[in-house]
Amino acid sequence: MSKSIYCYTCNVQHPIEEMRQIVTKKGIRWRCIKTIEAARLARDKRQEFGARTTAKNRADAQAKGRKTAAIVEDFDS
Ligand SMILES: [Zn+2]
Repeated sequence: MSKSIYCYTCNVQHPIEEMRQIVTKKGIRWRCIKTIEAARLARDKRQEFGARTTAKNRADAQAKGRKTAAIVEDFDS
């Protein structure tokens, strides 16, 4: 019988094969691969969304910048 370790994320014990030690702000904890993977996927999705939002904001800022520049040019002429 394989050893079980308490998973602080699920609040249950999993077989040691499914467990990984992770470093948290409160120290080293045991967490199962399943929740680590789920968290990683969620973070990837967030980063993808964040990157898209940043690109859009940058494009908006550039569009505004061009608009402002156009107005300034109008005043000059
Ligand atoms: Zn777990």
